[in-house]
Amino acid sequence: MHKLRLPSALLLAALALPFAFVPALAHAAPVEQILANLTAAPRRLYHADVEIPVKPGPLDLITPQWIPGNHRPTGPAAEITGVVFTANGKTLPWRRDDVNMYEFHLDIPDGVSTLHAQLDAIVTSRVSAKLAVLEWERLLLYPAHIPVRDIPIQPSLEVPAGWGVGTALTPVSSGPYPVPASGSITRFAATNVEQLQDSPIIAGEYFHEYALAPGMPVKHYLDVVADHPEDANLRPEFLADVSNLVREANALYGCHHYHVYHFLLTLSDVAGGEGLEHGQSSDNGVGEKGFADPAHQLLNADLLSHEYTHSWNGKYRRPAHLYQPDFATPQQGGLLWVYEGMTQYLGYVLAARSGLETPAQFRDTFARVAANLDYTPGRNWRDTEDTAVAASILRDDSPFWANWRRGQDYYFEGALLWLDADTLIRKMTDNKKSLGDFEKIFLGKGGDTGPEIVPYDFDDIVHDLNQVVPYDWAAFLRDRVYKINDHADLAGIEQGGYKLVYQDKPSATERTIMSIGGPRHGGPDCWFSIGLRINKDGSIRDVRWGGPADKALIAPGEKIIAVDGQIFSPDALNQAIRAAKDSTEPIRLIVQQDSYVSTAQIDYHGGERYPVLERVEGTPDYLDDITRPLTTPEQAPKEEKAD
Ligand SMILES: [Zn+2]
Repeated sequence: MHKLRLPSALLLAALALPFAFVPALAHAAPVEQILANLTAAPRRLYHADVEIPVKPGPLDLITPQWIPGNHRPTGPAAEITGVVFTANGKTLPWRRDDVNMYEFHLDIPDGVSTLHAQLDAIVTSRVSAKLAVLEWERLLLYPAHIPVRDIPIQPSLEVPAGWGVGTALTPVSSGPYPVPASGSITRFAATNVEQLQDSPIIAGEYFHEYALAPGMPVKHYLDVVADHPEDANLRPEFLADVSNLVREANALYGCHHYHVYHFLLTLSDVAGGEGLEHGQSSDNGVGEKGFADPAHQLLNADLLSHEYTHSWNGKYRRPAHLYQPDFATPQQGGLLWVYEGMTQYLGYVLAARSGLETPAQFRDTFARVAANLDYTPGRNWRDTEDTAVAASILRDDSPFWANWRRGQDYYFEGALLWLDADTLIRKMTDNKKSLGDFEKIFLGKGGDTGPEIVPYDFDDIVHDLNQVVPYDWAAFLRDRVYKINDHADLAGIEQGGYKLVYQDKPSATERTIMSIGGPRHGGPDCWFSIGLRINKDGSIRDVRWGGPADKALIAPGEKIIAVDGQIFSPDALNQAIRAAKDSTEPIRLIVQQDSYVSTAQIDYHGGERYPVLERVEGTPDYLDDITRPLTTPEQAPKEEKAD
């Protein structure tokens, strides 16, 4: 082990100028102040100087643990280092709480009214040589046992010279903005700890701020930072789609709950992916070419629409037990099938209405979602609500037997559930009403507001659904969410005028996604046939419980070496699946497990199978109605490609 050295410039600044450059607010009660210093971000260190108004006696300070939107205790306390408390020029001793690792205990001496804390955060994600994302929980330190909305705080920020800054925080410094001069500090308006944690910052050398949806009464921006200058020049077609998204969301929800909205976008192969909602902004991270062409845009089509929708559903309306007065109290995930599930549905709908994807791509996406859930055998022991209740332990991304364990299925189960509700409302009202009428009631409580939080429970949802059309909505929801259902909820697709079928070639959307590598790592797509998820090199990520490959005793983690006498390749496996269709012979594999090889025989004769939606002629085509824009698009809708 070796000790971490503080960058000497930072150390000197911290010692010599412990906050003189951020004067306290005049004429007001003392307010906590925090200066976040990102000048060492490329070296994976953030620094903070914090000034906390205190009284003599015992003091408990704390850092955030349960992070809103993560639904988990992911506060990065382990990465906080170099913590030093000083008051009146003297260093004060501290002791961590024996149980709560996020809490620090101090004893403030007589005569002290302001405590200075300095700390560093080791940052291993969302940072690169050219950009940085500041989630404030990395640096926040504030008095414990007080509701975080009751703790006023005034933030300031220093970034490397020449870097631009994107955030929903309101700058109040007289210096240039959004690009601070070298060594200058951007000072932001005072807020409270709850809102500050909800207001991340992106900063980078290659920064652009694009104004969106001109003419809207509230300003919307897309702020982008990238690792390479050309990537920050976003395509006009993409920007037009995002402007459409702003207009479509406001038309669908009929109100908004922010004073300004910033889509914060990082384009980096280094900084990692992200999608995290906030009231007045969203933190969206994709690869450096994530929106560079239509194929990559398709892969990320619903990212912005999903996170944006959360400003209404999740941030403004929040399940009562998911909203806690501080970041120390555990959040309860029971209603995440609304918070995330309805957002998943609305994110797809708005992506299609705004042009981020086409109606055909919307249908292909729903085919994939429905088929995946229908072929998730874990649904036979675990209901959808349990995937929400257990959300904080289900973010493990190990694929081994994931279909038997189930993952965070409340997202996609929710998408099918709310499609079911949408089409049912349309059916019961002869298409005169839709889920949009519910959203205007449920998400619009109080009309236009700032970033407030209005909690709800199960009965509130049922009540508001009944305002749209009377029905036994409580039973509707309970039957689908709180009960074991052997099959996925396909009613929305069927009420929408389509049915889920399997064909022998992938949909156009799937072929596009596969052409750029896609989420299946370039491997063959044989989940709905032999029941394997396989990488391009033959390594097996998951085996469908009860499926043909499971019956052949194949295990996750094994690697397919050969198929029917040929060295493994995706084509060789697909060819073997096709050949077995007209044969009674099994598919013969040689598989490697650790340093051993063995043979396996898969007795499967159903051919290749890929999910698509097929139109049922003579029935109302509500799926088409659902994807139709409510506003006039800023550019002509994209041509739909024939499959
Ligand atoms: Zn979400």
